[in-house]
Amino acid sequence: MPSVNIVGGGLSGLAAAAALGSAGFAVDLFESRPFLGGRATSFPVTAGDDDAEMIDNCQHVLLRCCVNLLDFYNRLGVADRIRFYCEFTFLEPGGRRSTLARGLLPAPLHLAGSFLRMPCLGAADKLAISRAMLALIRERRRRKDLDQITMLGWLREKKQPERAIERFWRQVLVSAINEELDRMAARHGFQVFWLGMLARADCYEMGIPDVPLRELYSADVWKKIGQVKIHTRIPVERVVIREGVAVGVQTNAGVQTADYHICAVPFERLPALAPELEIDTSRFEHSPITGIHIWFDRPVTDLPHAALLDRTIQWMFNKDQGRYVQFVVSASRSLVEMGRAEVIDLALAEAAEFFPRVREARVERAQVIKEIRATYSACPGMEALRPDAATRVPNVFLAGDWTRSGWPATMEGAVRSGYHAAEAVAAASGRPARFVLPDIA
Ligand SMILES: Cc1cc2nc3c(=O)[nH]c(=O)nc-3n(C[C@H](O)[C@H](O)[C@H](O)COP(=O)(O)OP(=O)(O)OC[C@H]3O[C@@H](n4cnc5c(N)ncnc54)[C@H](O)[C@@H]3O)c2cc1C
Repeated sequence: MPSVNIVGGGLSGLAAAAALGSAGFAVDLFESRPFLGGRATSFPVTAGDDDAEMIDNCQHVLLRCCVNLLDFYNRLGVADRIRFYCEFTFLEPGGRRSTLARGLLPAPLHLAGSFLRMPCLGAADKLAISRAMLALIRERRRRKDLDQITMLGWLREKKQPERAIERFWRQVLVSAINEELDRMAARHGFQVFWLGMLARADCYEMGIPDVPLRELYSADVWKKIGQVKIHTRIPVERVVIREGVAVGVQTNAGVQTADYHICAVPFERLPALAPELEIDTSRFEHSPITGIHIWFDRPVTDLPHAALLDRTIQWMFNKDQGRYVQFVVSASRSLVEMGRAEVIDLALAEAAEFFPRVREARVERAQVIKEIRATYSACPGMEALRPDAATRVPNVFLAGDWTRSGWPATMEGAVRSGYHAAEAVAAASGRPARFVLPDIA
C-alpha cells in the first residue's frame, strides 16, 4: 500500500491518520510536541510531571451535529467517553436561571417551549428572535452575500433588540465561532443555528469529554488502527520537494520518504514548512480564547455548566463537583493585555455574581491559559481564502481547521479537513475512498 507522511498531530492530522490507516495506507505522523491533540489537548497541572493531574488547555465542547468528530472518536473507540447534556442553563447576574431543553414538538420547534419560558428574555425579544429564526431558515440557501456581511449586520437588518442580541445571539455565537458578532461572517452564524439548533431535535445536545482531552488520543487507541506510526517530539523542518514532486519530510533524523504528504499544521506554520506550495496565509488573523481554571476549597455550584449573561466570562464548566471550575472567554481580546492576577480577580468578582458561594470559598489554586492563537478570525471574506486539500504539488495535501472544510475553525472542522485530505490522497493513489460524512441536514 502507498505510504503517507502527515505533519501535525492535532485533530486534523490525527483524523487523516485514522482514516488512511484504517483504509490500509502506511502512515507516519510527525508531531513536534511530546503529546498529541494540538490545540485540543491537556497538560499536567505541575509542569513536567506527567503523573500529576491533567487539565485541558481549555474546555472543548461539541454538539451532536459534529458527525465527523463523532465518527473519528468512534474510529478510536473513545466515543463513550463523551457525555451528552440535553439542557442548557443561561444564568443572569444574581443567579436567575433560564433553561433551554427539548420539548415534545418536532424539529425545528423542539426548543420552542423552553425558549418561550426563558425568563432572561422579554416577550418582544422572543418575538424578534422567532422572526429572525424563520428568516434564517428561509434565507440560508437563498442569500448569496452571507460571507460578505457580518452577523451583527444581519441581526440589525432583522431589527433585533439589543437584549436579544446580547443575551441570545451573542451568547451562543461568540463561543461557537470564537469571534465577535461585528467581526464574524454571517454564514457561520447561520450554520451554527441551523445545524446546532434547528435541523434535528437532538442536534443541540452538548458533548463534553469526561476524561482529559489527551486521553482520547493516547497510544493505546492507535493500536487497532492499521499501520499508523506516531512519532512525537519530531518537528518537521521542511517538506522536501524536488522537481515539483515531494519526496519526503526533513526531520533532525534525516529525510523520511513517502509517496504522499499531508501538512496538517496551523496557517502560520505552513509557509516555512512548504514555501513551494505558495499558499497565501497573509490575510489570516488569530482570535484568542482564555480559560480560567479555579480550584475552590468547597463546592460553589451544582450546575454541570452554564452560559453566563452580561459579563466578560461567557461559560462556566464544573470540572469536579463544583470545586474545580473552569471559566471560558472566547474572542478574549480584552483579556490579552491583562496580567494573571487581574484576570483571576475579574473572574472571581464576576463568578460571585452568579454563584454566591464563591464569596465564602477560598481559592486553593488558579491557572489562566491564554491561547492567543486559538483559531483564525472568521471575518467576512475569509471563506474564499481558505485553501482546499489539493495543492500545486500533486502529492502534497493540506488539512487544518483553517482550510476549506465547510465548517468554521472547530474540532469538527479540523476532523473534516483531515478526512478531506485523506480522500484526496486516496483518490490520487487510485484507491478512491469516502471518509467525510455529510451534514445532518
Ligand atoms: C482554547 C481553545 C478552546 C477551543 N474550544 C473549542 C471547542 O469548545 N469546540 C471546538 O469544536 N473547537 C474548539 N477549539 C478549536 C479547536 O481546538 C481547533 O479548531 C482544532 O483543535 C484545530 O486542530 P488542527 O489539527 O487544525 O490544528 P492544531 O490543533 O493546531 O494541530 C497542529 C499540530 O501541528 C503541530 N505542528 C506544527 N508545526 C509542526 C511541524 N513543523 N512539525 C511537526 N508538528 C508540527 C502542532 O504542534 C500541533 O500539534 C478551541 C481552541 C482553543 C485554542
